[in-house]
Amino acid sequence: MKPQFADAFDRLRELVVALAALLVFALLLSVLQYWRLHDRQLEDLRTQADIVAQTVSAALVFDSRSDAGESLAALQQSPSIVHARLLKGDGAVFTQFSRTAAEVTWLHEAAGTVSVQVPVMADGRRVGMLVVEASRLPMWMDVGQFLAATMGTLLATAGLAWWLSKRLRVQIKEVERRTRYLARFDALTDLPNREHLRGLLERVLHHHGRTTLLILDLDDFKRINDQHRHAAGDAVLQAIGQRLRLLRRPGDQIARLSADEFALLLVPGLEDEALRSHVAQLQAELTQPVLHDGHWLHLHVSSGGVSLPEHARDASEALRSADAALRHAKQIGKDSFQLFTPQIGEALRLRLALEHDIREGLAQGQFCLAYQPQYDAARRIHGFEALARWHHPQRGWVPPAEFIPVAENSGLIVELSLALLAVLRRDLDGLRARGLACPPVAVNLSWEQCRKPQHRERFLQQLKTLQLGPDEIEFELTESAGFEDIDKPDSFVFTLQGLGYNLAIDDFGTGYSSLAYLRRIRCRKLKIDRLFVHGLSGNADSHMLVESMVRVAHAMRMVVVAEGVELPADEAALIAMGCDLMQGFAFCRPVPPDEMPGLLSVD
Ligand code: C2E
Ligand code: CA
Ligand code: CA
Repeated sequence: MKPQFADAFDRLRELVVALAALLVFALLLSVLQYWRLHDRQLEDLRTQADIVAQTVSAALVFDSRSDAGESLAALQQSPSIVHARLLKGDGAVFTQFSRTAAEVTWLHEAAGTVSVQVPVMADGRRVGMLVVEASRLPMWMDVGQFLAATMGTLLATAGLAWWLSKRLRVQIKEVERRTRYLARFDALTDLPNREHLRGLLERVLHHHGRTTLLILDLDDFKRINDQHRHAAGDAVLQAIGQRLRLLRRPGDQIARLSADEFALLLVPGLEDEALRSHVAQLQAELTQPVLHDGHWLHLHVSSGGVSLPEHARDASEALRSADAALRHAKQIGKDSFQLFTPQIGEALRLRLALEHDIREGLAQGQFCLAYQPQYDAARRIHGFEALARWHHPQRGWVPPAEFIPVAENSGLIVELSLALLAVLRRDLDGLRARGLACPPVAVNLSWEQCRKPQHRERFLQQLKTLQLGPDEIEFELTESAGFEDIDKPDSFVFTLQGLGYNLAIDDFGTGYSSLAYLRRIRCRKLKIDRLFVHGLSGNADSHMLVESMVRVAHAMRMVVVAEGVELPADEAALIAMGCDLMQGFAFCRPVPPDEMPGLLSVD
């Protein structure tokens, strides 16, 4: 109430000040106008008096009062003139003209008069004096009219300005209201957003004690968006929002956390068994297909939950814990549910600690590269693969299989890759300084760093800055979920190929993509995963599979690299089936850069 009152008072004050300013301005203009009209009236009066003085001069010389009176009576035509008298040379009144009392109103009297005196000349001699008095009423009326017109115009302008500013104020208020709303609600589903939920969580934790936070995540949302366009994705999200509204119990709170993540805060919380059956029921309802544009969209929902306050003390911890449980659920498979446990908490703590150490390690330049050569059938080196290595002061050597997934999930992979490119440049410069030419080095790319345009931009900029061209490096990309986007026109793969870089498909056989994809993206190398290579000489199935992979890849004019070649028998079998290159412990383990000169000079 108080701020509103203050607001109204402020506006009133503004209005009074504006009106006072307008009034002062109008009065100033009127004073100027008064002086202009005053001067003009005197001038007009003098002109009229001069004319009359000329006509009465003869009458005065011949002492004809009647003629003089007639001449003065002509002044009757001039409405402002109220009195005139003709004086003789000695100052005595010869004749005069006055308006009748009926013609001179109190207004004329109140307005006052102005008078002029002109000499009456005859033969170059002054024979008398003519005094003419005029009322100032017409002039005041002109000034008044001017003032009224000026005030009217100014008031109309001020009124218009006020109306416009009021409209603007209403619009600003609306924008403010909208931004306040958007800061707390999601526009698509009309549900509270993450920030709002945070507040609700804090309040519920404070007032109700027991509660359960569930995070529900659509398993295949990206696929729906890609296959049926964004309108279908929006329809699904709106349907989920609507279903959640219907499914919530009185007291429960719902929110949309991010693209395909929703939260359900169960107030009061449920015990384990009751919770499991409640979640099963929720998932069954939420995964009902959605009809959009004539298509039935099938949904899968995974969820993670955390019981509060047992497993989280505040909103941030609750969200983190439910998210960790959700990740676990997603690892189990589609439509899964996982309740947060201390073990999950411990895994989360370890992951966060590792994430922290990676960040520190990046700042302190703890990351380096090892290089594993790729050999042909004659055991000549045709290339290297650059593999990240991390030596942490306390942890020691941390395997990439441990830190790369954490770097990918936390987004740190973007910084890590940029740092590793710089390490690669330094190592290659070291070789060059020793006069050694290095065959192309394959750099592993993560899908995480290919997704966002700003990350791609930074990566390309780094390649340019370090002058790492296609003659020095190529890229390896694993088959994975990101593969679905690989053949889109704006795909990063096409950008890199456009710049002349060669591309290898890594870990081939482990992902769910097909050879048909590879044809579309024109990649140069295919790296068959260790899983199929290891022991293939003694396993007819693996042998047949790898052999057919080699044949198809060759038909598509791709170079085949077998990974993880450990056994001489496998090497022989691979050579026999025409595999182009081999990489593995049978030849050489990944080596630090200072061991590369030995390998290159032997070659
Ligand atoms: P990857 O790209 O498949 O790399 C090959 C892995 O196989 C390397 O493991 C290598 O040391 C190992 N290896 C090579 N020959 C043999 C063999 O004969 N037997 C066996 N058992 N293993 C062999 P590493 O260095 O531990 O790297 C693991 C994974 O981490 C890599 O798999 C790659 O996916 C990822 N990674 C490593 N460095 C980077 C990097 O700089 N960036 C990205 N994004 N990922 C990287
Ligand atoms: Ca690789
Ligand atoms: Ca590989």
